[in-house]
Amino acid sequence: MKQISVVGYPRVGQDRELKKWTESYFAGQLSQEELLSLAAKLRQIHWLSQRQSGVNYIPSNDFSFYDIFLDTAFLLNVIPQRYRSLDLGALDTYFAMAKGYQGANGDVKALPMKKWFNTNYHYIVPEIESDVEFKLNGTKPFDEYNEALRDNNLTKPVLIGPFTFLKLSENQSDKTLGELAEKLVPVYQDILRKFADLKAEILQLDEPLLVTDLTEEDLTLFDEIYKKLLAEKSRPKILLQSYFGDLRDIYEQLISYDFDAIGLDFIEGKENLRLIERYGFPAGKQLFAGVVNGKNIWINNYEETLNLIHRLATVTGSADIVISTSCSLLHVPYTVKNETGLDEKYLAHLAFAEEKLSELAEIARLVDSRDYRSDSSYLANRAIISKKSGEDFRREDVRRKVALLEEKDFVRTPSFEERRELQKKVLQLPLLPTTTIGSFPQTTEIKKLRSLYKKGELNTDEYASAIKEKIAEVVKFQESIGLDVLVHGEYERNDMVEYFGEKLAGFVFTKKAWVQSYGTRCVKPPIIFGDVKRLEPMTVDLILYAQSLTTKPLKGMLTGPITILNWSFGREDLSGKEVAYQIALAIKEEVEDLEKAGIKIIQIDEAALREKLPLRKSDWHVEYLDWAIRAFRLVHSDLKPETQVHTHMCYSEFEDIIKDIEEMDADVITFEAARSELSLIDVLSANNFKTEVGPGVYDVHSPRVPSVEELETIIRKIIDRLESDRVWINPDCGLKTRGEKETTESLKNMTEAVRLIRQHS
Ligand code: GLN
Ligand code: ZN
Repeated sequence: MKQISVVGYPRVGQDRELKKWTESYFAGQLSQEELLSLAAKLRQIHWLSQRQSGVNYIPSNDFSFYDIFLDTAFLLNVIPQRYRSLDLGALDTYFAMAKGYQGANGDVKALPMKKWFNTNYHYIVPEIESDVEFKLNGTKPFDEYNEALRDNNLTKPVLIGPFTFLKLSENQSDKTLGELAEKLVPVYQDILRKFADLKAEILQLDEPLLVTDLTEEDLTLFDEIYKKLLAEKSRPKILLQSYFGDLRDIYEQLISYDFDAIGLDFIEGKENLRLIERYGFPAGKQLFAGVVNGKNIWINNYEETLNLIHRLATVTGSADIVISTSCSLLHVPYTVKNETGLDEKYLAHLAFAEEKLSELAEIARLVDSRDYRSDSSYLANRAIISKKSGEDFRREDVRRKVALLEEKDFVRTPSFEERRELQKKVLQLPLLPTTTIGSFPQTTEIKKLRSLYKKGELNTDEYASAIKEKIAEVVKFQESIGLDVLVHGEYERNDMVEYFGEKLAGFVFTKKAWVQSYGTRCVKPPIIFGDVKRLEPMTVDLILYAQSLTTKPLKGMLTGPITILNWSFGREDLSGKEVAYQIALAIKEEVEDLEKAGIKIIQIDEAALREKLPLRKSDWHVEYLDWAIRAFRLVHSDLKPETQVHTHMCYSEFEDIIKDIEEMDADVITFEAARSELSLIDVLSANNFKTEVGPGVYDVHSPRVPSVEELETIIRKIIDRLESDRVWINPDCGLKTRGEKETTESLKNMTEAVRLIRQHS
């Protein structure tokens, strides 16, 4: 029977235990020993459930207190001086890099965070400083390997490979990547030797960067690294693991090296099959075939998968095929078993991490069986797959509307500049208008209210009036500190996508389907199960209520179609474009209702637009941007010119898609810039970006309170480079995960800094 492997396993716990423990540790309510021992128990649970499912290659060192990439940096001693000088213990230095530190030992910001490829996960970007001294720092991978072994779990340790590590870190040193690699590879060799001493059978090196567009220089760098690394005599077998795409730029070169095993993704990397057909697969080596999707939540299609594996067996000849996940299961929730509230007609289609383990085992069993076509579990799988067409999936009215869309439905008139003049007259805002991104802190009090309401212990009226009380409070607060464009605070929203999903037809919700987004933040993405349609107004009441309390403009807050799509688990039986247009039509109805009700500024968040950008540039437009940008335009194309459309994005890498962002034709764009030192500002000015912009002036992902002086300096930097009458001042994202106290202070400092600047200009 074929062996099975898992690339990585979720680590936060079924109930997000790890998040809760870590936060308690931050709050001083849990000691370090307690935290460490709880984490160890969690790892044992994960190993055990994989072993019980018959996984032969169980990952270890896929656990992390915050982020695996940060773990790697820490292990390789890539710790910037400012964190070392804090002189904290190892774990606290690590957390300081992850989330910043403000306390008795100093005041430093967190390292920047970036999207992990095309997922909703974020990794911490290490900084390689000039005086970096690569060396083994700590023993995490070895400890976790040993720890697993103590319970008789023989594991496959996992590490980010040196190529991806160097390429995704920020090189602030005076050396080239090649020069850095020379110093870095010996540390990896050291790791290999240590694992050899521990008698580890195989080590998985993750090199996902290989699925992106590679230059000649990249190929050389890879060559320099792996020639040396593989020459190490005393080492376990090496599994070179790729995921999220295919290896078209390096496959031919790759198979000339002496890797013992190569892990390929056959879900997002369909091209990998053709590469093997064309160039072959090295004889006698192992092919870890990623055939169970590590990102989706749908059951595997056994028929297709078995065909694929049979095909692979034919084209690889003597290779030993191991049945694997396409990537780490980190991107899916734990188990469907927790979804007790869902009807069987939905459940039958779903497979989370644990169910995927069973699928791996089933596939391994079926693949070598001659008459699998009459196997009962194979037949059951086919029966479910073929049922994906009923009324839970199709709404003919929606399909018709999408089919009838014409070019003019995607164009707002008049032009941006003309609208701008009109909006200036209507809104009469001061220079450098101040605003926030929408949400205010979701205190325990609000979370409690919502949970009581969900449990039915609070009726709709009671809940609504409690929310209204909070709204009144926050409107008053915003007025008191002199913000110019107010928001209602989004207290009624648990999550910016879930809230809308719950009100739209076509979505299915889970109870415990949490996935890690970054560090201690987890999200529970809704599942787009069928055609999407708006049933009734979703936000108008509360936004109107907030507007009724103030004479200042109140910004209506909505989530855009692409963000709803990207932060949900998507369909596979309908194209992304089709689904995006369906959602856009639903949000369009809401936008128009807000305008009719008298709201003058509407923000349509596209926090996640960049997230699903295909990994290869050649696919960007055709496969994604062309329809994603149009979906956004469809939402606001019929608004009056006086209505000001804002959008917000949770990142600052605009350079490569700046034209597309301008094509969204919004009137104002706020984005994240604080963590990236505002380097984007230069890009905007160099590209003559016309849309008004609010580059976030401070980082909301950290509890740190920026001082007035600090904010003044940043704002001056911004207006030095951009026309000041196109600049908005705001934090860099929503405030819902922050505490009330730090939020109040930060916003006060922000409006004060603006007041000082206005005085002097
Ligand atoms: N309006 C949302 C909020 O403030 C935006 C959140 C986000 O960008 N992730 O919470
Ligand atoms: Zn944001």
